Amino acid sequence: MINLESRVRVRFAPSPTGTLHLGSARTALFNFLFARHAGGEFVLRIDDTDAGRSHEGHEQAILADLRWLGLDWDEGPDVGGSCAPYRQSERLGGYRAAADELLAGGLAYHCFCPVERLAELRAAALAEGRLPRYDGRCLGLAPYQVQRRLAGGEPAALRFRIPPGDIVIDDLIRGPVVVGADAVGDFIIVRSDGVAGYNFATVVDDRDMGITHVIRGDDHLTNTARQVLLFRALGAPVPGFAHHSMVLGADGGKLSKRHAATAVGDYRELGYLPQAVVNYLALLSWSHGDDEVLGMHRLVADFAVERLSRSPVVFDQAKLDWLDHEHIMALAPEVHERLFAARLPAGTPPPATAALAAAFQSSLVAYGQAAALAAAVLEPPAPPADLTAALAAAAPQLTWFRALRAEAPDWLPPTAARDLLAVYRVWGKEQGIGARDLLMPLRIALTGAEHGPELPFVLAALARDTTLRRLDLTLAGVLAGEPTTTHGDTP
Ligand code: GLU
Repeated sequence: MINLESRVRVRFAPSPTGTLHLGSARTALFNFLFARHAGGEFVLRIDDTDAGRSHEGHEQAILADLRWLGLDWDEGPDVGGSCAPYRQSERLGGYRAAADELLAGGLAYHCFCPVERLAELRAAALAEGRLPRYDGRCLGLAPYQVQRRLAGGEPAALRFRIPPGDIVIDDLIRGPVVVGADAVGDFIIVRSDGVAGYNFATVVDDRDMGITHVIRGDDHLTNTARQVLLFRALGAPVPGFAHHSMVLGADGGKLSKRHAATAVGDYRELGYLPQAVVNYLALLSWSHGDDEVLGMHRLVADFAVERLSRSPVVFDQAKLDWLDHEHIMALAPEVHERLFAARLPAGTPPPATAALAAAFQSSLVAYGQAAALAAAVLEPPAPPADLTAALAAAAPQLTWFRALRAEAPDWLPPTAARDLLAVYRVWGKEQGIGARDLLMPLRIALTGAEHGPELPFVLAALARDTTLRRLDLTLAGVLAGEPTTTHGDTP
């Protein structure tokens, strides 16, 4: 147990039962920003008391996703810390001791009700439109009856005895939130198999880890009511609570795979930048006016938990795409080129990679597009039949450009390619051929399409031989009066 006075300590407590969802990443981000803004500590704790659903592989994946987002933690299962261990499955002794404390103080009691009875109570309450809650039957057992049944080996859970009255949560985002007395019944803190329930384990750990603030989704409000009572029962300071709103899909339902990719790992694979995902998750929750493209330093500096939105926010893929694009544009060209190159097939010639990376830095939405964009230049389809007429009329200029390119070096950097095109245009002008009639056939001959990256980049991405071969194929098709065959060649 630690006593850190007023030093800010927050935690993110994922259950390793699946991959890291965008909504959970947003919760982690708020805790991280809150800690960093205050110069406090960010603790990572693994909520793995549900042994059946928890998985070591998921834990590793969640840690990797958090690291990828840049949300580094000060204490956690991998880095240790003064409150180790950081997996709930390794902290069972603390829960037992706290349960004994509550039992001894008469604040908890044994419950022998079988699951069938509890299910009936629940069904009856729901049928009558009431919130299901335990009816307190085992509270009426005399101590000697409890002892006899325990001695007889009868399984028993431990229930927390809820004090009467409404529960008021002093929420840092919402102000006072009242949870009505009838919303919470005597709940199980330790199951009959000895495993501590979520609310109980969480409170014991938050107490023992000196957690000063708990920031999480508003789906936890009723849990918080239970937890406030547990903190009080254990004589522990109640942390500050902040419940942020949930992320919804466009149809108003909780954000799910129906709406968009929801796992952080999906966005990594799609080639989004972590700083863009972080920026987006932050903007999703508090408004920054027109100043929207923000790095982690700004987010840390500007973060204020009170400013988080109280109402649900709607996931907007277009906005995320726009932010990713903005962050890509802000990258140093060599960083961008490295990320772009990582998505291209092995063996792509470095000059082609450099030219294509430069060509797309101003228009790329996510790096996952890189391979297809590059393939459209490096392995283009044959021009569609309806473009061959334009090519037929352009045989003289294509022939001339072929001669020009044949004399230039094997690879042309984009600036040299620009110069070559300038020479081509001067020649065209002398011949009375307009820029469009010079450049469009050339583009179609080289890429099989009317649109694509700027021509200097196309020329820089293709080795001389490739360029000449594509021009030859086009000219052969044109001269034979047939559509050209597929380019199907390599740069
Ligand atoms: N494991 C819980 C969850 O993922 C933690 C909630 C909390 O922050 O207490 O929802």
